[in-house]
Amino acid sequence: MTKIVQFSTIGALMAGHLEGEKQFSKVCCGCNFGLGCSADMDGELTIYDGQAYEATAGQSLETLNFAEKVPFIQITDFKPKQRHDVENIDHTNIEACLTRFIQPKNIFLAVSVEGVFEKITIRRPHRAAEGQVRSVSQIAEAQQVDTHCQIEGRLIGFWTPELFGRVSVPGFHFHFLDQQKKISGHVLEFLMKKAQLSFEEKTTLEVTNPKSKSYKDMNIDVTMLDEMIHKVEK
Ligand SMILES: [Zn+2]
Repeated sequence: MTKIVQFSTIGALMAGHLEGEKQFSKVCCGCNFGLGCSADMDGELTIYDGQAYEATAGQSLETLNFAEKVPFIQITDFKPKQRHDVENIDHTNIEACLTRFIQPKNIFLAVSVEGVFEKITIRRPHRAAEGQVRSVSQIAEAQQVDTHCQIEGRLIGFWTPELFGRVSVPGFHFHFLDQQKKISGHVLEFLMKKAQLSFEEKTTLEVTNPKSKSYKDMNIDVTMLDEMIHKVEK
């Protein structure tokens, strides 16, 4: 598959459109790899082998029911043609590392990094209380951040050029899933001595907008939005 299939945009999500509108089963067909979040930003989603794993603070990792509706998801079929063994890779040098193999600045990539993580810091949102309405800032500030050491697993994510930075998170956006499928979340930092870096160029990004009236009526301040995307998602 040469495309990334996406429901909604990081811009709409960060502007506060958190309602689950698209059934997971309707986007996941034929796709085995991706990320997103669950309705009301109750959890970070990591899609691997056709299952979505929902990481929520204070709760064990659950698989998302295929009938659940999600507010934002990016998914693809990951069949990387390039796999490289790399050493001493972390969140600060991965772009330079990738650039040794491909010039990424203007293209979309699905990217995975596998192996034993010396250290990885991930975050998970808390589930909203019954009837609680939360802003994106409130959710972001209350997230649980955890660091795990000597843990085997994989980063699952995408590289998006700055040009598309309101559609998808510009640069890398990674979620983590451990080998045991017990630990997952949005990646803040990581460090590996040895890793396998694999990636696949995706020439097409197919975006479906939410259909709801609440989405159509939203006023989005794009200047505020850019700050929000960098603050919350980077
Ligand atoms: Zn994320």
